[in-house]
Amino acid sequence: MKPNIVVIGSLNMDMVVQAPRLPAKGETILGQSVQFVPGGKGANQAIGLARLGAQVAMIGRVGEDLFGGELLSSLQAGGVDSTGVKKTASSDTGAAFIVLAQGDNSIIVVPGANAHCTPADIDAQMALIEKADIVLMQMETPLETVTYAAKVAKQLQKTVILNPAPAQKLPPELLACVDAITPNETELSLLAEGQGSLEEQMDALLAQGVRKVIATLGSQGVAYKEEGKPLQRIAGYRVPVVDTTGAGDAFNAGFAYALGCGQSLGEAIAFANKVAAISVGRFGAQEGMPSLDEVTQFSE
Ligand code: ADP
Repeated sequence: MKPNIVVIGSLNMDMVVQAPRLPAKGETILGQSVQFVPGGKGANQAIGLARLGAQVAMIGRVGEDLFGGELLSSLQAGGVDSTGVKKTASSDTGAAFIVLAQGDNSIIVVPGANAHCTPADIDAQMALIEKADIVLMQMETPLETVTYAAKVAKQLQKTVILNPAPAQKLPPELLACVDAITPNETELSLLAEGQGSLEEQMDALLAQGVRKVIATLGSQGVAYKEEGKPLQRIAGYRVPVVDTTGAGDAFNAGFAYALGCGQSLGEAIAFANKVAAISVGRFGAQEGMPSLDEVTQFSE
């Protein structure tokens, strides 16, 4: 049985420029190349889920422009149901301007149409949520919409997974509806207001009603904790790193997929750790997402 998962999140066109170095203030330099690649945390995670074999639908917004059309086509080509992605006349498609310069990078994200994904969009796509086992969200969609969707999904007894990226403070009414939250270290520290050790920060989220806290620790792997149980750790795989963009997205796709297949928390995190390790060995957030066969066959 394929897990049925709805991703509520962002779609961006990423414009990736390779340059010899980052330009200084007021400076113009010549770059080496520019690539236009589909991105946005929501779309990346939806594509990752589809590649693993989940039945995935996405809810979000693009503009009524060329990039919007391309992002919809790329979702469909990747096997994602895009009927829940609406076109917005009043705003351009979200875009990320990424400069890569010998290990340094600088990024500007313009949310554009993503900022127009409203609670009314959630109401309009209720049928998709009703059919799903899991609702997976990130924070590139307005907080009001994420909070509303989490409440609706919880009422419908769906499993709610929140990847709280990019980092921002979250209201207790949202956290109380979240079954599993997957911050990286920066996000965890901000959510817990920087207080104490890793475990104390995780406890601070558990105290706010989140049921499971899964902290991703980059090359160090993952730490996770459930209410009343001891902290657990899973080491990262030692893999050659090509591109860590989208490691978190691959992790969330793998985690939601495995939970949806009925795996235990520990098994799902171990599976996600593997999916993310494969993705860091490849270029591109969406291109780097592995298939289920590749995950099964993976070894360090
Ligand atoms: P984000 O990409 O959101 O900042 P992390 O850097 O914590 O999140 O990475 C997410 C997950 O990706 C990690 O928990 C781990 O499973 C995997 N990962 C990231 N970087 C590496 C790495 N250098 N080697 C192996 N696995 C990695």
